[in-house]
Amino acid sequence: MHIGLDIGGSKVAAVALDARGQVVAEDWRAHQARGNTEVAAELLAAARRLRDTGPFDSVGVSVSGLVRRDGRITSGASLRIAGDLGSELAGSLGTDVRVVNDGDATLRSVLDRHESETGERVTDAVLLTLGTGVGGAMVADGRVVSGVTGLAGELGHLPVFPPTDARCVCGGSGCLEQYAGGMGISVLAARAVETGWTPGHDVPSTPSAKDVVDAALRGDPVASGVLDQAAIACAQAIRAICVTIEPAVVFLGGSIAHGAAELLPARIEHHLHRHWSFAGLTTPPPVRLDAIGPFAAAIGAALLARPDLTQTITPAATISAV
Ligand SMILES: [Zn+2]
Repeated sequence: MHIGLDIGGSKVAAVALDARGQVVAEDWRAHQARGNTEVAAELLAAARRLRDTGPFDSVGVSVSGLVRRDGRITSGASLRIAGDLGSELAGSLGTDVRVVNDGDATLRSVLDRHESETGERVTDAVLLTLGTGVGGAMVADGRVVSGVTGLAGELGHLPVFPPTDARCVCGGSGCLEQYAGGMGISVLAARAVETGWTPGHDVPSTPSAKDVVDAALRGDPVASGVLDQAAIACAQAIRAICVTIEPAVVFLGGSIAHGAAELLPARIEHHLHRHWSFAGLTTPPPVRLDAIGPFAAAIGAALLARPDLTQTITPAATISAV
């Protein structure tokens, strides 16, 4: 069996893939583990719940944060993990363990599913996930782009506008996440309220990103303006990415993107075309909304741990979900 584990700040997802790349078991649990020892214990428990599926041939682990090509974790973000977590797990599991970034794992899974569904093999692609923050990943010439410490692909922190006094969580300013992430959108909406915007009688005085999206869908001009700023920020980021790795397609996911599915992809493409640098010579990549399932990163981790494996899309047999 090829095992994929994905641990985030509050949940751990696990899948078992057979030799044909078919998901044969899934497991999902809440957790509160922090630090290498607790996180390793949580991952071992998740893997052991899949023991009934058969002997483990390979294990891939997806974590948020900066992960080097060799699997060492530079910074494990909210999990407060670092170093060689893979070796810590390998001894207990009796097989090699590859640790990868969760965005990279998700993009691997998205590309695999895209190929399975369309027959089209994409070797150059980008993933942007617009959730509370903005995540991402890049694949160029079929390889994950991760850079020296794993910083490459942290696309939420791509500078898209000039720095201001407002700081991003990364310590920088002018980051994509400050304009297109849920937190950033709610901050921009709060500023609009301070300057006189009344977002609607049923909307709180500090609107959430969802409130902004809903108001924009109702045609509210200020909310539409905030969302358009998010679209411009995404278009700026994609333009920068295009002159770096030139992807064939940009996959868009996350709660903000799906909530604003009627508006955001089209607005991003509008701004991309409007400001495209090489008009007439090249065209901007299509921006495709992608339904990223809750096990995408776990599946991608299993696939990245065994590059010879490709995914077979069929309904999975769920072992447990708590
Ligand atoms: Zn940032």
